[in-house]
Amino acid sequence: MSTEKVKCLIIGSGPAGYTAAIYTSRAGFQPVVYEGITPGGQLTITTDVENFPGYPEGVSGQQMMDDIRKQALRFGADIRSGIAVKTDLSKRPFTVTMDSGAVLEAEALIVATGATAKYLGLPSEVKFAGQGVSACATCDGFFYRKQDVAVVGGGDTACEDAVYLAGLCRKVYMVVRRNALRASKPMQAKVAHTPNIEIIWEHQVKEVLGNESGVNGVLLVNNQGEERKIEVTGLFLAIGHTPNSEVFKSWLETDEHGYIVTQGKSTHTNVEGVFACGDVQDPVYRQGITAAASGCKAAIDVEHFLS
Ligand code: NDP
Repeated sequence: MSTEKVKCLIIGSGPAGYTAAIYTSRAGFQPVVYEGITPGGQLTITTDVENFPGYPEGVSGQQMMDDIRKQALRFGADIRSGIAVKTDLSKRPFTVTMDSGAVLEAEALIVATGATAKYLGLPSEVKFAGQGVSACATCDGFFYRKQDVAVVGGGDTACEDAVYLAGLCRKVYMVVRRNALRASKPMQAKVAHTPNIEIIWEHQVKEVLGNESGVNGVLLVNNQGEERKIEVTGLFLAIGHTPNSEVFKSWLETDEHGYIVTQGKSTHTNVEGVFACGDVQDPVYRQGITAAASGCKAAIDVEHFLS
């Protein structure tokens, strides 16, 4: 297969990738975008998005990503399906091989491959995804106002989610598999000072319970094998994310969790001409709006770099 030469190649298609495509196409760089495993990214697997500015009535995640995609197409972005399987970033132009076997040579490369929330691996959690099971408290917490919910995990994300949900919900259970939290001390203190959070130590989720209306409980099991049921309408998973940086890892600097390291307030990576935006480089904010903003920054960084 012959090699295709492109000015700007964007790998990934969430709010970061599509926004980078809008800006780079409007700037005349004829970007080629490969959409990756989940076209449209993580927002396409949530329910409604109510916190993205510009949608006063809220919008489905899928609809929003379709809209941003259309906006990129309108300015000439060349959006394709495919997954990057091999990269050579040792010299410019950068070489990226796709799962179809297509080989591209890019003057500038934007990595916007996102992150994937970790799930427990239970069939019942898949069954109730979007119907009570969520991996994003900030996105979906609002739908559980005044209800009882559970958060799984004991890290900073779980604590932050529990505190956030405690402001909306009647009661929040934190299901923690050990007898200690992994979270930072200040975050632990916040949890301890929030009266409607109850930590259930040394328990794991065995089954998500529910019916056609969605989740109505969770079956827990402790380290001695004893079972306990809690009645909740929402189950929030906060057991970590995996940044989708694997295919770039041998060239790009990553932190200990695999997030691509960007320099200062820019989207520059350690390789000149390679930029990273969205959740693949953001272990902290992880919102659609912050991903879109960093996609814009990556496009502007590309513009400065190529001109
Ligand atoms: P972490 O990896 O730090 O924590 C994951 C938590 O989930 C741990 O308590 C872990 O338990 C638990 N867990 C993992 N797998 C399972 C499972 N299968 N069943 C039950 N429990 C499980 O992930 P976070 O997303 O919390 O944080 C990631 C990084 O982002 C951290 O460096 C964190 O500090 C940072 N962060 C910072 C924030 C801030 O500064 N405001 C906010 C959010 C995150 P165990 O402890 O037993 O391994």
